[in-house]
Amino acid sequence: MKKHIYGPVPSRRLGFSLGVDLVSYKTCSFDCIYCQLGRTTNKTIERKEYVKKDKVLAQIEQEISKRPASEKQKIDYITLAGSGEPTLNSTIGKIIKEIKKLTEIPLAVLTNGSLLYNEEVRRDLLSADLVLPSLDAADSETFQTINCPHRSLDFSKIIQGLKDFRREFKGLIWLEIMFIKDINDSLKEIELFKSIISGIEFDKIQLNTVIRPPSVKSAFPLDIDKLKEIKDTLGKNCEIIPDFRGLQKEAQDIYSEDIKSQILEIIKRRPVTLSDISTSLGIHRNEVIKYLSILEMKDEIEIYRYEDLQYYEYKRAGLNDEI
Ligand code: SF4
Repeated sequence: MKKHIYGPVPSRRLGFSLGVDLVSYKTCSFDCIYCQLGRTTNKTIERKEYVKKDKVLAQIEQEISKRPASEKQKIDYITLAGSGEPTLNSTIGKIIKEIKKLTEIPLAVLTNGSLLYNEEVRRDLLSADLVLPSLDAADSETFQTINCPHRSLDFSKIIQGLKDFRREFKGLIWLEIMFIKDINDSLKEIELFKSIISGIEFDKIQLNTVIRPPSVKSAFPLDIDKLKEIKDTLGKNCEIIPDFRGLQKEAQDIYSEDIKSQILEIIKRRPVTLSDISTSLGIHRNEVIKYLSILEMKDEIEIYRYEDLQYYEYKRAGLNDEI
């Protein structure tokens, strides 16, 4: 049976997060140039039950009930996210309400915010504890460049959706801005961001940059000094999303050595893509990504790009030492 949950995985923003995937692979209203999952294969704004509510709920219930109390405490959030945009699932509202009946673990929703103009979507999210929308552009042209949205989506509608949602939602909203070198980091763009966010009472503004391999090779990260400069300009409630490495060190014990070795074995045989690993081991892509980050951090693998695809390749031990 297809698994719709993964983890708990360490997340830079949410601690240890049990991920719930509510759509089929790359079903999204955007096709962001920095997306770590690759290009969007089903760009849509159609809401439907992409994955069955009952199956998702049964898997969450099973995962939670099988854990002893001490392990349950290791889950900081149940996070609705996954292989695309979770609010495209038309049963998300019911799923949130049912999860809240099942457990007291806080519930978060990661969304690109593109459907918040829709009253039904906003209503569906009202029972969540925390909503984390993203906003990567402060003007319409940059929005097209970075997010490559579905043709029916309009930048001003998205800003209005964020404003309306803030008015109606009583929980926390943490806005994420993904900065990409020379695309949305100009002084003019930062000033525009400042004017947008000053009109909406977000609980936090979280600054991010491209740290994982993006889907388009021209998406480059900002250095930490530039991020600090932007943080100072944007001011109140603004923070840089903490470095992944510290969290990963704390999180070593949550990773399975067995899964790590299986991934490494596959990579040792030949260069492979994220999809190859996920399919051959039956592990969710988002979970594989976390293991790949560890292997990369330990300098055991490297990444290269060929014909628009990213490949993970084994880095032979000691090769650099011999030089
Ligand atoms: S909104 Fe998220 S899943 Fe969709 S393309 Fe952008 S980064 Fe990828």
